[in-house]
Amino acid sequence: MSDPSKETDSEQTPEPDNVQTEYESVEQSPVNPKKRSIRAWLLFGLLALLVVLLTVRDDLRQNAAESSENAVRYVAFDMLGWSPRDLFIWRLRVAGLLDSPLGQRWAEAVDRAAEQPVQAVGQYRTTASFASDEVEAHVYQVRLERGEKLIWQFSRLDTSESRLYASLERREQNTQAWSTVTDLDADDATNSQVVSKAGDYRIVLQPELFANAEYSLAMANGGSLPFPVEGAGQRDIGSPFGVDRDGGARKHHGVDIFAEKGTPVTAVIDGYVRTGTGARGGEHVWLSGSMIGFGSARYYYAHLDSFAVESGDRVKKGDILGYVGNTGNAITTPPHLHFGIYSGGPVDPAPFLKPEPVLPDS
Ligand SMILES: [Zn+2]
Repeated sequence: MSDPSKETDSEQTPEPDNVQTEYESVEQSPVNPKKRSIRAWLLFGLLALLVVLLTVRDDLRQNAAESSENAVRYVAFDMLGWSPRDLFIWRLRVAGLLDSPLGQRWAEAVDRAAEQPVQAVGQYRTTASFASDEVEAHVYQVRLERGEKLIWQFSRLDTSESRLYASLERREQNTQAWSTVTDLDADDATNSQVVSKAGDYRIVLQPELFANAEYSLAMANGGSLPFPVEGAGQRDIGSPFGVDRDGGARKHHGVDIFAEKGTPVTAVIDGYVRTGTGARGGEHVWLSGSMIGFGSARYYYAHLDSFAVESGDRVKKGDILGYVGNTGNAITTPPHLHFGIYSGGPVDPAPFLKPEPVLPDS
């Protein structure tokens, strides 16, 4: 098939590498590690002093118990960025328990469980419990591509007041360390996370020491965008991202979705459009989340037969932008939509276009 893409068309400007895309809103911003470490030790010292005071002075302890609890929470969560689990580990350390066999066993429970994680691919649902006399963690893992969406529903089934630590963690490709993406609330709601960095993702559950806990967890993964061609699906993607073009001189920076001429193509997000005509892309539309196209991903629809929008129009997700054709350098190929995503450079649209995830029935 001849080359229908046109990533070097004059309409296309290179994306700055530091563009924060809309899917990265949950990411933590980096903090100077040295500064953070000094601050952490200062606060650790203050907290240790507080603990010593409260241990020595009985009278202080009575009234201060509650307010010191709040102070610890404030410092740990808001200033240090600790998770509730980090705080529990700190408490074990302060209590002298972390170096005990029991404390060690608790601290290493996640690593033990991670040796044989439950594979939660596609759709997964479970009900499980922790007994107070065991020191275990549960790990549910799935590998995800950039643009996929993970959804989950997490609920506590017991009525005890004990803590059950729960977090979503990520290990990027070619790295060993896990980092927390977000803590999970046992809120019974459907939560979601769009994947901005490919890698292994896992949900980790662990109760505090000596606690009973019972929970239900449902997970599913899939795409994060609606399909951009009406009535079409993944089976209609004929030419994948990254294959050679012009005899290897360049790569295909999108996917080709084959459909009958005149089939509507639709907006994958709410945003603004710009239309144009080029030698490669023919009649094409750029869709971006903001007016100037900065600060969000941009979506490229090429080889259209005709437009349903004009430059500057504001559109809603699902609105028709134009109709499938074979304009530009697709003139000798069957009608198709060349669909591209640009966010710090071209990104493979295929994971974004998988069917959106649905939680399995209970
Ligand atoms: Zn193409």
